[in-house]
Amino acid sequence: WQHLNKIDPEVAAAIEREENRQKKNIELIASENFVSPAVMEATGTVLTNKYAEGYPGKRYYGGCEFVDEVEAMAIERAKALFGADHANVQPHSGANANLGVYFACLNPGDTVLGMNLAHGGHLTHGSPVNLSGKYYNFVSYGVEEHTGMIDYDEVARLARESQPKLIVAGASAYPRTLDFARFRAIADEVGALFMVDMAHIAGLVAAGLHPNPIPYADFVTTTTHKTLRGPRGGLILCKEEWKAKIDKAIFPGLQGGPLMHVIAAKAVAFKEAMDPSFKTYQQQIVKNAAILAQNLTARGFNLVSGGTDNHLMLLDLRNKELTGKEAEHRLDAAGITVNKNSIPFDPQSPFVTSGIRIGTPAATTRGMDEAAMAKIAEAIDYCLSDSAEASQQKAQAIVDELCEKFPLYQ
Ligand code: PLP
Repeated sequence: WQHLNKIDPEVAAAIEREENRQKKNIELIASENFVSPAVMEATGTVLTNKYAEGYPGKRYYGGCEFVDEVEAMAIERAKALFGADHANVQPHSGANANLGVYFACLNPGDTVLGMNLAHGGHLTHGSPVNLSGKYYNFVSYGVEEHTGMIDYDEVARLARESQPKLIVAGASAYPRTLDFARFRAIADEVGALFMVDMAHIAGLVAAGLHPNPIPYADFVTTTTHKTLRGPRGGLILCKEEWKAKIDKAIFPGLQGGPLMHVIAAKAVAFKEAMDPSFKTYQQQIVKNAAILAQNLTARGFNLVSGGTDNHLMLLDLRNKELTGKEAEHRLDAAGITVNKNSIPFDPQSPFVTSGIRIGTPAATTRGMDEAAMAKIAEAIDYCLSDSAEASQQKAQAIVDELCEKFPLYQ
């Protein structure tokens, strides 16, 4: 970065330290990934200079002919990738995509049924501290305590009782396949609209490894930066009849000018996701998660719901007499990055928690395979079963070996 180094060496140095951290640590945060060099290049282009309020062909600024081409490509590719009638590629984030749907189809005070944050849902699914929970009357469903799985009969009961205008499916920490047909049947029974937030599983959906919500949902939202491996951002897919309302909700409803450099990078990521190699990558994510889950279980760790169907798992650390906070800290010290996460019915506060969430998308991007997952389970066990310095060092040695064997951004 010749200019950055010269103009702002402090920022350049901090970025370099972060790049080094990403290279030297094993990234197991389930919502993170490493974008391709092509996606990275697109985000650092002159498109960051351009104002383009409006949509392709209908802008409030001149000089939009080329960014129109870029946005049109992003839209067409998103539609083709997921089989949707319409795509809005402008949401700056997953949170904005969700708020855009609410703004398009709800009035303040309307009732919505969504997944409890404490059971794996997202803040924007009605948490009382989030705008969604303050403006709308969210009612929450969760998982069964003894199975860790969504209790669909309870979802149906809550829907009959609360008569929501919208039902939201999707989660940030749910390791199991979602039954969209069941949700749709519940929504139809009570006359509700149905939205799926597939942020975590979008890559799996694109590769055909998780059922596609498009045939069932009125709206599908996602981030573009998790399993989908694009730039940080959001995306809304919807049925043709909602196209005008969704577009109006995002602009001028919620946002001003779109981030055209990010939209270009989204277009690149959608193209990459249509390549056969992306399916192989997603298959490896799922295989890696299954192997990691098996190895951790064999080492005496308890997994919420007993395992995983997708790219993530939730460790319940109560039998290890460890909090999520302490576990995150110990793993960090050995070069393994995870996040503390509440488990369903967690006795600890959200700042402490009894669990950690572990995901395989980023490690899989580096090329890590089943054998690497077995090693990672060993390293996690060293860190969490024993706080002695020698165990931490053994874990660090495994991390160093794997990071060298599977280099990032060479
Ligand atoms: N929806 C789900 C299910 C998520 O897990 C997340 C992010 O973690 C979001 C939405 C929000 O995405 P963003 O952080 O881009 O606002």
